[in-house]
Amino acid sequence: MADCVFCKIADGQIKSDIVHQDEDVVAFRDINPQAPVHIVLIPRVHHGSLNALGVEDDTTIGYLIRVAAKIARDEGLWEQGYRLVANTGAAAGQSVDHVHFHLLGGRDLGWPPG
Ligand code: AMP
Ligand code: ZN
Repeated sequence: MADCVFCKIADGQIKSDIVHQDEDVVAFRDINPQAPVHIVLIPRVHHGSLNALGVEDDTTIGYLIRVAAKIARDEGLWEQGYRLVANTGAAAGQSVDHVHFHLLGGRDLGWPPG
């Protein structure tokens, strides 16, 4: 998608602090971190939100979740715990219309979230 900031990060047009990338998934540090570890994971394929996913995305999204767990391990979060969330739509505060998951950790995370 021409005007999508996350597509631009995925293809290198916008610089970011990438912690993982492969054919299907890119993960980079959030520019406005909400926790000591705050990493955004995206599928390379553009979809506006979780609402737009189809059965053809199941493998990539399942794989993305496994990549998130691996990054959490690499960031030293497995013992203390971490959170993986996908804000979807206005009420949840989604601000970038490209499917993404936040990996948050390194502090106590309140529940329920605000
Ligand atoms: P959301 O508000 O759930 O849609 O999450 C979008 C996230 O993307 C926010 O936490 C932003 O701080 C983050 N973000 C936006 N632009 C960039 C960027 N260029 N590099 C890294 N993170 C970004
Ligand atoms: Zn995109």
